[in-house]
Amino acid sequence: MALRQIVNLPEPILRRKAKPVKKFDKDLQTLIDDMIETMREAPGVGLAAPQINVSQQLAVVEYAEGEDEDDNEDAPPKPKKLYVLINPEIIKVSEEKVIGVEGCLSVPSLLGEVERYESVQVKALNRHGNIVKLKAEGWTARIFQHEIDHLNGVLFTDRATSVWTPRVDEEVDLA
Ligand code: ZN
Repeated sequence: MALRQIVNLPEPILRRKAKPVKKFDKDLQTLIDDMIETMREAPGVGLAAPQINVSQQLAVVEYAEGEDEDDNEDAPPKPKKLYVLINPEIIKVSEEKVIGVEGCLSVPSLLGEVERYESVQVKALNRHGNIVKLKAEGWTARIFQHEIDHLNGVLFTDRATSVWTPRVDEEVDLA
């Protein structure tokens, strides 16, 4: 495995619609493993292939739902879940939308408030090329929407109702 370099705006690949993945070969497995390693090293909770200069419809997400809720500090930490999304499609969304603060590994100098669906259902292929249907809610749903936007050349700043330069002590999960 190897770390890949994360590209930032105004890199044009971030604005392009990525191409569907067609070959589930060894190179794809290496790419997926590199993306997982790069996401963890960043550190981030999600990473889409265009962010490492690869225009393919592939994203990885790793998040433990509930890790931002500090009202229950004695509870054991929830395990992180790793998702590999290939050619993902949002097939169902909740009526409810929620506003949250997002940051992006490719837009390092800004945070923004973004409205997202509270829950989504996503159809995708896994790393072996099998169809999977995933239900996500809360922050996991937000990260899925952020990553699928990346595959369509859309950045959180396009959707944000306000953006600002983060304060030194302002910590937000990046994706
Ligand atoms: Zn991002």
